[in-house]
Order: sequence, then C-alpha cells, then structure tokens
Amino acid sequence: MEASPISRISAPAQRAPQLSLSENLAQLKPSETVAINQETQRRKAAGEDVIDLSAGEPDFDTPRAAAEAGIKAIQSGKTRYPPNVGLLDLRAAAAKHLSLLSNGRPVNADCLVISTGAKQSLFNAIFSLFGPGDRVLIPAPAWVSYPQMVHLARAEPVMVPGDIEWSLKVSVDDLEAHTDAHTTGLLLCSPVNPTGAVYSRSELKAIAEWAHERGIWLISDEIYRRIHFGSGSAPSVLDLSDELLDRTVVIYGASKAYAMTGWRIGMALAPLPVAKAMAGFQSHTTSGASHPSQWAAATAMSDPKVEQDVLRMVDEFRKRRDMLLAHFRKHLPNVEFVEPMGAFYLFFRVDNYFGPGISTGAEFCSKLMASEGVALVPGDAFGDPRFVRLSFAASEKDLVKALERITRFARSLKPR
Ligand code: PMP
Ligand code: GLU
Repeated sequence: MEASPISRISAPAQRAPQLSLSENLAQLKPSETVAINQETQRRKAAGEDVIDLSAGEPDFDTPRAAAEAGIKAIQSGKTRYPPNVGLLDLRAAAAKHLSLLSNGRPVNADCLVISTGAKQSLFNAIFSLFGPGDRVLIPAPAWVSYPQMVHLARAEPVMVPGDIEWSLKVSVDDLEAHTDAHTTGLLLCSPVNPTGAVYSRSELKAIAEWAHERGIWLISDEIYRRIHFGSGSAPSVLDLSDELLDRTVVIYGASKAYAMTGWRIGMALAPLPVAKAMAGFQSHTTSGASHPSQWAAATAMSDPKVEQDVLRMVDEFRKRRDMLLAHFRKHLPNVEFVEPMGAFYLFFRVDNYFGPGISTGAEFCSKLMASEGVALVPGDAFGDPRFVRLSFAASEKDLVKALERITRFARSLKPR
C-alpha cells in the first residue's frame, strides 16, 4: 500500500538529526567519577547489593549549625541574587578562616571569589589564565576534571607522571623535564585526589619557587586541606612567603571537610586583577553561588561547633584509613598502595592480578562489580590503569564488608 502523505512527510523527521557540536567540546570526555557514581546509585536504587566506594564525597551529614544557617537564610528571604563575587560575610569568614589555618598570615577577602563548588572555581581560574598556545602541567595521576578543563580553555594539558617510589608525587626535576617555552601553568593538588599523598611544606616551597622563577601560574587545589592525617591542616602554599604567591591561585571550598558537597560552595583566592577577571567571567555564567548556601558556608567557616564536627569527621577518616591499611597489610600483602596522608582515598595497585580478561584497572573494577558488587574507580580515569581508587568516605560497616569482598575477589585471581 502506498504511504499516506503524512507518513511520507513525517518519516525523515524520525531519522536521527545530524548534530555537529562546537570545536569547544572536541576533546571533551564526560567525568568518569561522576558517571561511576551515578551508575552505582542507580544500581542501589534498583535494589542491587552494591557497596559504593567510588564516591568522592563525605558520607556524613552537613554539620547542624551550618545546615540551620542555610534554612534560616531561606526562611528570612535570603533567596534573591547574591553578590556575584560572593557574600561579604562569607568572604570575610573564609579569609579569617584561611588566615587562622596559616598562622595568622593576612588573607584579603577582596581577593576571594565564591563559586558554585571548587569545580567552578577551578574552571574560572583555568579559563581566565590559559588559552590557545598555553601548556599546563598536571602531575599524574590526577583528578579527572583537570585535563578536561584545560582542554575546554583550548590550552594543552601536559601530564607529568609522579614517581612511584615517592607516593606518585612529582619533583621540580619532573616538572622541569616537561616544561618548554609554551608552559604557562601548573595545576597542583595536595592532599592529592586520587592518591591521598600530601606534599610537605618544603616540597611545596621548592615547587612554588620554581614556578615563580619560571613565571608559571600555580593553581593550588587545596580542597582536601583540612582532611589531613598528620598534625593540623595539610601544608598549603599560604604557608609560603608573599612574593611566591604573586602568580598563585588557591582553590578551597566547603564540599569536603564540611560535608557540604550538595550545597555547591567553592572559592578561589587570587591576586586582585585575576580575582576581578574571574568575577567578571562568572557574572556571565552563573551570577555566583546559591545565596542560602553561602550563608550556610559562612557559618561553617566561623562557628566553633562546626569546627568540632570537622575534627570529629577527620578523626573518623583517620580511623578508617588505619583499619584499611591494617587489612591490606595482613590479608593482601602483595598489593602495593600509596599510604594516604590526607583526603579519603586509597589508591592501590592491581596490575599484579592482570591476566586473562583483566589487563587494566577498568577491567578489574568491572569484574569486581559483577562478581562482588563493590564500586571502585579505575586508575585509568586518573591516568594510571595499574591502580584503582577506593574511597573510604563510607561507613565502617560497609568498609568491612567491602574489604571481605575485595579480598575474596583478589584471591580468586592469581597474583603474578
Ligand atoms: N578538586 C578536587 C581535587 C576534587 O576531588 C573535587 C571533587 N569534587 C573538586 C575539586 C571539586 O569540588 P566541588 O565539589 O566543591 O566542586
Ligand atoms: N571529586 C569527587 C571524586 O573524585 C567527586 C566527583 C567529581 O566531581 O569528580 O570522586
């Protein structure tokens, strides 16, 4: 039978249209950490017996005083546009807080820009400082979003492999070996996601001096600074002298130490002209961070009760880390790992178990998920397929259960 005029007209519309996206996204790979996280949540919601050790977010509730400040802000009508750079109260509280963490060094609130999570702060900084022709050094393994953000700025990420003998950290020599006349930036993270390694103060100083001499912008991602298993907070570039900071942007925020991932509050501390540029850029993208969330974060960074909560959470992370390390040493003695000194990740090596059907961390993780229902993030996502990342931002009960399963799975494979 001949097709009616209507079906003849409508038929072409059913074909997938030819979409061509902008060159801006030519290199874009969606975030693997976010994707694995969402897939794990989906499986859990569907009733599967899955233990999620993929999530890079605290399993604790937001400290009560901070949450109440957010609620009060909503109830008292603080629901209109906030100032684009951030509320003065939050910038002042954060400046004081950062100053206290670094032995009272002065921190100028005018140089702080509040954003929708540290992710946006990083993007603002990268997009404002780098562009076509620039090369940006990224010590690897590295958090998934760094190279993507550099690509989005149309600059070129240059991965600098860390030294396996040195907790996968990089030295000045490693950085120098990857530097050329086009290198204009370095994206350093400490405590490091995904390894939990921490750069000491003298290591940071050597790197900052090198960047300063070379005229290279240093973006120092210190989002995990408070989650440190040594004494006090992890060393920061803010512990260094002023002249080393004239080409430095410090990234900080409420997400990790304050268990406030969903409130979306991050910040960047930068030399004033850069802070102004980032604020201008942000005035065209998000108009600043959520208004009530900013009130919650202002309380988080100034209320002594919240400070007690932070210390309790860090203690809990420390206990879990000790438990994990004791388990690995006793039950999986062939497995090498970076001993985490901060953040809440254990980055362990699985290439010992490579064999038929498993030749990357990604394959190890998908088989582990299929046979034992434990979600980890493959090291492939961070640029090192020999490893996998376990997040210990999970309850002790879940961790104990997951350790049993991981151990059983590993033993079912023959270590080489
Ligand atoms: N930097 C690192 C190293 C991270 O792991 C994360 C995790 N989300 C971020 C920045 C972004 O933090 P936020 O959730 O505040 O955007
Ligand atoms: N940063 C966390 C992680 O590494 C959260 C997910 C993301 O934003 O990448 O898992």
